[in-house]
Amino acid sequence: MFKRVPGTRDILPEEIAYWQKLEAVARKVFSLYNYKEIRTPVIEESALFSRSLGEFAEIVKKQMFLIKNKEDSYVLRPEGTASIVRAYLEGNLDKSGRFSKFYYIGPMFRLERPQKGRQRQFHHIGAEAIGSSSPWIDAEIIMVADAILKADQITGYSLNINTLGCPKDKLALVDMLREELKGKLGGLCQECKERFKHNIIRILDCKKQECRKVVKGLSIQDKHLCGDCRQHFNQVKRSLDAEGLSYEVNRQLVRGLDYYTRTVFEFKHDSLGAQDALGAGGRYDNLVKDLGGPQVGSVGFAFGVERLLLVSDLKKHGPQREVVFIIVLGDRAKDAGARLLSGLRAAGIAADTDYQEKSLKGAMRLADDLGSDLVLILGDNELEKNVVIFKDMRRGKQEQINLEEVVDKVKEKIET
Ligand code: AMP
Repeated sequence: MFKRVPGTRDILPEEIAYWQKLEAVARKVFSLYNYKEIRTPVIEESALFSRSLGEFAEIVKKQMFLIKNKEDSYVLRPEGTASIVRAYLEGNLDKSGRFSKFYYIGPMFRLERPQKGRQRQFHHIGAEAIGSSSPWIDAEIIMVADAILKADQITGYSLNINTLGCPKDKLALVDMLREELKGKLGGLCQECKERFKHNIIRILDCKKQECRKVVKGLSIQDKHLCGDCRQHFNQVKRSLDAEGLSYEVNRQLVRGLDYYTRTVFEFKHDSLGAQDALGAGGRYDNLVKDLGGPQVGSVGFAFGVERLLLVSDLKKHGPQREVVFIIVLGDRAKDAGARLLSGLRAAGIAADTDYQEKSLKGAMRLADDLGSDLVLILGDNELEKNVVIFKDMRRGKQEQINLEEVVDKVKEKIET
């Protein structure tokens, strides 16, 4: 028998109701904030990601699912931002000088070592606001993300924020880190020794114990930030304060991708263990220009759907709409049963029947498995009398109703 590819999951029908609910909740929040859905292909040119995330970003170095043929090098998208900026430019949305707010929901792919909370195919719910450098839109993006968590009935999460500063400030940070870390390399993990050469900022948020110890001893605070970037960050904080959002400024929060500038943030949930990030995001003021567009500021975030589902209370609330189950007994009743089924569906009532031709007892068990409380039984006898037996399991009642009145009666029952 074939097995799933490691690090992927099947979402079976019994679980899908929660996914749909979570997605519906997110769509509702996005529409309140006037974000429009965008869908981009899952395959992109691999250079799109090396150019935007940076050649030395872990995702690019180790985690890209490459698809190569003679001429092309494609990749299964590892994240949404670069694709959306590409689509924004390719669709000429920049030409109108319009400020655009997008949201997206879909699968992402990273060639990781599968473990709890880390899959090779996982799903993002995310948003991007392209075309503004205003700190108020940073605050809005964080507020949208927070509103989604609240609407998903998630509690017990925390928000960390930081600013990396503009590209000049980031360079100053790199210099300061080089200076401070050069005598402390021995205390870092192997990966961070490598990061020291090409991706030094990332050392700040390495999760390994030994690196955390080294980083704690660094004197880096916000010395690398210029006046404009300080002001920008102060306004973001003021806006969040005004909304009553609680957050912690964490100077070690850096995010691993080249494109981030200024504000970065992360939502965490302790109950998730080692992979505790529910979602994260930040500002990327140069990405649109780096991909061939105008110099416009942008900010975005993405949540991991699998992780949201792990902590959401939506799961506890019973799934699904009522499905009326029709049991047809005897050959002559079959056509009338099929007509009844169509009639119910045409009236907007979800209905199903037993296609395995089980006995009455077996069919009743099927209805029970399906969670159907309303069962209609139509046998040759009933057909002769032009009636159907209607069992209402919720009330433990059974009655005979006229075939012509079934749809109206069932509708009445469902509504009460
Ligand atoms: P990132 O683009 O890495 O910041 O991812 C944003 C969010 O997606 C994270 O906070 C996680 O919730 C989720 N995520 C990232 N990578 C994975 C993965 N390999 N498996 C499951 N969820 C992931």
